[in-house]
Amino acid sequence: MAIAENLSKVDITGIRRLFEIAGKKEDIINLGIGEPDFDTPEFIKEAAYKAMKMGKTKYGPTTGLPELREAISEKYNKAWSSDLSAEDIFITVGGENALFVAMAAVLKQGEEVLIISPSFPSYSSIATILGAKVKYFRTDMQNGFKPDLEQLSKIISNRTKMIIVNSPSNPTGAVYDAGIMERIVETAAKNGCYVLSDEVYDAFTYSGGFTSLAKFFKRYDKLMVANSFSKVYSMTGWRLGFLLTNDNELKNDIPKLQLYINTCPATFTQYAVLEALKSKEVAKTVEQFREAYRRRRDLVYRLLRESGIEVNLPEGAFYIFPKVPVNMSSVDFCTSLLNEKNVVTVPGNGFGEGGEGHFRISYAASEEKITEACVRISEFIREHS
Ligand code: PLP
Repeated sequence: MAIAENLSKVDITGIRRLFEIAGKKEDIINLGIGEPDFDTPEFIKEAAYKAMKMGKTKYGPTTGLPELREAISEKYNKAWSSDLSAEDIFITVGGENALFVAMAAVLKQGEEVLIISPSFPSYSSIATILGAKVKYFRTDMQNGFKPDLEQLSKIISNRTKMIIVNSPSNPTGAVYDAGIMERIVETAAKNGCYVLSDEVYDAFTYSGGFTSLAKFFKRYDKLMVANSFSKVYSMTGWRLGFLLTNDNELKNDIPKLQLYINTCPATFTQYAVLEALKSKEVAKTVEQFREAYRRRRDLVYRLLRESGIEVNLPEGAFYIFPKVPVNMSSVDFCTSLLNEKNVVTVPGNGFGEGGEGHFRISYAASEEKITEACVRISEFIREHS
């Protein structure tokens, strides 16, 4: 079936509907949007101005600037001993584009994609647009939203073409350690399927343990990592990300998709990020972001617990995924909370299997806003219990 025929099967209205209601109201606290509230660091903006002034405003290579690809490969090799070269890195138009390119390069009509859920909605939407079949592998709050690896090896079959992993997770905040990642790779290798790991929140973990899929690149050769500068450098509007793969067979096809979707990523933004990657300042800035998110995570977790809400302490990203605290569906709860208390959150039902019964809060907001939102949520619970 052609892509155009699959478009009617995906929806963009679920989350957007609440934002549309929110847009018309005053005194709104928006904890719905998955976007850092910090501005892009000044030195990154300066580097972009400098690049523009130097005339870096023309088309660049389809797969991205060689110097940037090289810098990313060096960073990964240092962190994960992954033995990557610049040719293994493809610069993309944000993480979303990296996901689309990765999935489009691999998936054929009717092939099965196993998504560890609750999960970022794009995975199932992209799979559906491409005509692939979505199968969820559900995790639960009781297990810290970590996959049951025994079950995983049972559910994978020779029909499974790709497993999608997201750590640190949007929406649950779960982080997978080396043991989990290794077992996922072993299971995929046994069945000959790809693993696509979305690591756009990799800089934001609060208790250690995060392991990139790149650590296993020498073990098995159908591995892909999608990443982005959007969240870690607070550059969501710049649209720059990247895809890594160790599968040589994909290396001819990925540039074709990039060429016919985007021609190339924007040029001056790549120079800005290149300078950021080489600067000493960037690590300090990311550390400040991380510490701010850690404080906010501790605050929101404490306040939700004090209101009697069942919730796990997230280990990474900037989301928390509590249970809906009243007898309502996740959509009814989030809609009523918005209508009655002017607080935007996201219903869990949009995050695939295991999402219903929960709602997502993004704590990439000031401590004052988080505190006030939690007071309102607490009032809401009292009024509806
Ligand atoms: N992956 C996850 C898990 C995300 O939460 C997001 C954005 O919210 C993306 C990918 C897309 O990132 P980008 O803004 O770089 O396209």
